[in-house]
Amino acid sequence: MSSTAKNKLPEVEIPDVRTPKILQNQKALVTGANSGIGKGIAVELAKAGADVVVNYIVDPDSAHDLVDQLKEQGIASFAFKADVSNEANVIEMFHQAVKELGAIDILINNAGLQRDAPFEEMTLEQWNKVIGVNLTGQFLCAREAVKIFKKRGVNREISCSAGKIIHISSVHEVIPWAGHANYAASKGGVMMLMKSIAQEVAPHRIRINSICPGAIRTPINKSVWSTPEAYDKLMELIPYRRIGETDDIGRLAAWLASDHADYINGTSIFIDGGMTLYPGFATGG
Ligand code: NAD
Repeated sequence: MSSTAKNKLPEVEIPDVRTPKILQNQKALVTGANSGIGKGIAVELAKAGADVVVNYIVDPDSAHDLVDQLKEQGIASFAFKADVSNEANVIEMFHQAVKELGAIDILINNAGLQRDAPFEEMTLEQWNKVIGVNLTGQFLCAREAVKIFKKRGVNREISCSAGKIIHISSVHEVIPWAGHANYAASKGGVMMLMKSIAQEVAPHRIRINSICPGAIRTPINKSVWSTPEAYDKLMELIPYRRIGETDDIGRLAAWLASDHADYINGTSIFIDGGMTLYPGFATGG
């Protein structure tokens, strides 16, 4: 786009909206909640009235600070250290969550990481780490959540459904990503994991969906937004011409977990400012 045409574009406006109390009396567990997108989701779920378990693996201080911040919303919250790729840790975490909060109604399967490398240099350790956390971790947490949801069933006072799982996937469940084969494979796997479980457990009134963020301002991808040059380059991939913020994802998660979204099941919702619109073709390709 020429600089003259660019100058005529409207200024970017960031939403200034209030999250309604659509999750009152619900209990949520958010994995990897002490940073980035997980933190943004935990904050919005609490604003919507949900009690929140803050799972973390490193940096306990930030997890405990977040718990204090969430409690200021008048909800119950506690932090629990668990490696989502470790079966025993995950089972113990859900056990404690039910013991402390009495139930779990919402799982946000968010914990994830990258170990990037050119394909022929990618080590088995890098591959296994990413698949272990991003895919096996989501499997292990979803399995425990489904057991709890099925056992409890629907409590109409709380929600129309017995439980909700939201997988945090990525635009890279559909956009291939050179240099990140392990990450893209993990997110492609999350898509079919989500759809397969959704098909299987829907008759039990359990809703399962994915949120697929584009570029969101978090520590994991600081290199793409922390300098003006990098930010301008990133904008070439985003038709809506702004980076996503963690509360953009948080608001979607709160709505998707609520009965407002009761008929949405087995779907990936892309939240990416149009990154999946093939912006390279915007001027005819
Ligand atoms: P982040 O690094 O800020 O947060 C990831 C969190 O997961 C951290 O709290 C980390 O400690 C935790 N974690 C890592 N390994 C763990 C383990 N074994 N057990 C428990 N927790 C663990 O990154 P983020 O950008 O907030 O990413 C969150 C999720 O969003 C990831 O699944 C990521 O793939 C996805 N995502 C991010 C973007 C983006 O632009 N930031 C885009 C698409 C998808």
